[in-house]
This record gives sequence, structure tokens and C-alpha cells, in this order.
Amino acid sequence: MSFPARAVVDLSALASNVRSLRAHAPTAQLMAVVKADAYGHGLLPSARAALAGGATWLGTAQMDEALALRAAGITEPRVLTWLYAPGAPIARAIEADVDVAVSSASALTEVVAAARAVGRTARVHLKVDTGLGRNGLTPVDLADVLPGALRVQAEGAVALVGIWSHLAFADEPDHATVRAQHEVFADAVRLAESAGARLEVRHLANSAATLTSPQVHYDLVRPGIAVYGLSPVPQLGEPADFGLVPVMTLEAELATVKRVPAGHGVSYAHQYVTPVDTVLGVVPLGYGDGIPRHASGTPDRLGGPVRVGERTLGVAGRVCMDQLVVDLGPEAGEQAGDRVELYGTGADGGPTAQDWARAAGTISYEIVTRLSRSVPREYVGLDPQTGAPAGTAAAR
Ligand SMILES: *Cc1c(COP(=O)(O)O)cnc(C)c1O
Repeated sequence: MSFPARAVVDLSALASNVRSLRAHAPTAQLMAVVKADAYGHGLLPSARAALAGGATWLGTAQMDEALALRAAGITEPRVLTWLYAPGAPIARAIEADVDVAVSSASALTEVVAAARAVGRTARVHLKVDTGLGRNGLTPVDLADVLPGALRVQAEGAVALVGIWSHLAFADEPDHATVRAQHEVFADAVRLAESAGARLEVRHLANSAATLTSPQVHYDLVRPGIAVYGLSPVPQLGEPADFGLVPVMTLEAELATVKRVPAGHGVSYAHQYVTPVDTVLGVVPLGYGDGIPRHASGTPDRLGGPVRVGERTLGVAGRVCMDQLVVDLGPEAGEQAGDRVELYGTGADGGPTAQDWARAAGTISYEIVTRLSRSVPREYVGLDPQTGAPAGTAAAR
């Protein structure tokens, strides 16, 4: 492979993060959320590593990803999928033993029709909008939908196995909405159970709530970002404070190293001008690869951090489509081909996805998720095909 950069994905770190999260929520099962290609880490290898760490559920937003898990032979864990529009392949999901979320009366109608068409019972999790204002049945909708849902359950078309919801301010555990949403959720659970639903799982907690709000763990927690070793609450703690290790390291080889005089403009619009005679290094990654252009740098404010040897430097000037430039300084000893690191575990003071998020004015979720599929993923730590222990690297 000639691409001069790669994302090294440490699957043993991922499995270890799942073990840490289970220790934070010892009374609940754990659903590893693997939506968006496992937050950019690779759907199947990440799912297998999460199972190796003790996850018993996998969650995806898109139905295609849930089907891809089953098609790859991941048959043991329960899989839940929750985001679809009218006309989605619900029948295929039911046949593949994928649990489906229902967020509206019309979605329930479609699920029932699909279940009847394939002659199987659809396992349904009713999603309640307890205050996020996104997907889900409002409490009023839930009361309307429940009688019909229980009727079709009696016929065997569906099994109401879950009630679930999602928090708006999980990353601010003391925010009044956390308690308010919890109360609405508890009411929804009571309503469903008193109407005759026999729920297997009630679930409300994402990563932040898994780590900081034990009162909402219920039967199942649904962490995403923390599985990948990034802190969902950077203002409250670093990954290590929660027993987490960042899973992805983004590294590249310097494409060019060259000496330029003082006053040399760097990259489009010369947003950076060399203050002294210096050495520039070209890193062959840009916004076409998912590096945020918002992390460009100026002389006053260097952009996204880049580790070069023992030093952490910053992007000089504009991030371009395929490349970015680092001012290596007048004494630089680096050569073309030397390895640089954009983000990784943060051990020894190295840069992290959280640092890039800060430089670009976004969250770490977006930094890892947006990394283009053009950047090869290299798996270490566990066998990406099986999740079994392995010491060697294998490319996808
Ligand atoms: C993405 C998502 C999660 C995981 O959220 P994190 O903040 O990454 O832990 C959990 N539940 C739902 C419904 C989601 O959409």
C-alpha cells in the first residue's frame, strides 16, 4: 500500500475500554455502539473487539450496518438498529434477527407488516422522546401507540422487548434535564409495564451517563465514544481518569522537508508567514482525508497539533485538500519519510483527537468519525477477523 498515512487501530485497547465500561456499570449489560463505521474505526473489527471485551449487544443507527454485522457472521450478540425512513428493509432486519427501534406509530405499522410478511416476530424497542427533541414517541404518542402494540404482540407479530430513550445533556450530569428526562423515562417504563409489556431491557445511558450517572444505567448501557477510548466529558476528565485508552493513532510520513527563508508565505492565502529562516515539512493529509480545515494555523495561533519526534508542533497556515504544512524550525533534523503523529493515545504528552477537536472548534467524535475511508486502517492487538488475541498487524 502506498498511501503515506494510516490510522492504527488498537483492538486490544478497544476491548479493554469495554471491560472498563462494564466495571462502571456492573449491574447492566453493555451495548457497544458501532454506528458510523464504528466512529471511523471500522465496523467489523471494532464489533469483534467489543465482543471480546464483554459487550453482549451491538447498536447501529443505520439498518445497513446492522445487516452487515449479521452478514459477517456476528450472530451471538443482540443487535439493535434505530434510524430508518419509510421503505427501509425492515423485513430483512427481522429475518436477520436484528432488533428494531420504533419511534412513531407509522414505523410500528411498517414493522408489523414486515413481520407478518416474513412470518416471524419482530423484536421491538419503543423509543421515547423524554426531552431530547429528536427521534422517539412523545409520552402522549406512547400512550396512544401502546394498546395497539400490545394487541399485535398478542398475535405474535411483535415482541415489545425494550423501552429506551436518549439524554440531551448527559455530558453535564448535574443539568436539570438529566433528572427530568429520567423521571419521564421512569413514567414511560411504568406505563408500558402496567399495560402488560414484559420488557427485557430498559436503556437510557450513553457514554457520558455510563461514566457519570449510575442512576440511569437500568438494564443496558449504550456507550459509543468511550468504547473508542475518548472522553465524552472532556471538561470532567481525560480518558485515563475513566480507565480508557484512545484506540486510534493517526500517523503519516513527511512527504517533503525543505529549507525556506524568513518571510516565506505558507499555503493558500499565506495565512502563515515564516518568522525566520526555517524548515518546512509537508504532511500528506488534508481535508479530503477528513482533517478539519478549521484546524488551520496562523503565526499567533498554530493549528491542529502534529507530533514530530519528541516535539509537538502545530499546523502552519491553511489545511489543504491533500496536505498540510508544519514549520519544523531552523534546527530541524527531520527528513522526508520520517513518521509524524497527528493524534493517538496521548501517552508521553502526544497529541490526541481531543486536542484536534479543540483546535477545530468541535468534539472528538467528529474528528475520528470524519477520517476518510481513503486513509487505510491498520489493526493491531487482536485479530480483526475474529477478535482473538494476536500480536501482529493486518490491513483491512
Ligand atoms: C450515538 C448514540 C449513542 C452513543 O453515544 P456516545 O455519546 O457516543 O456514547 C447511544 N445511543 C444513541 C441513541 C445514539 O444515537
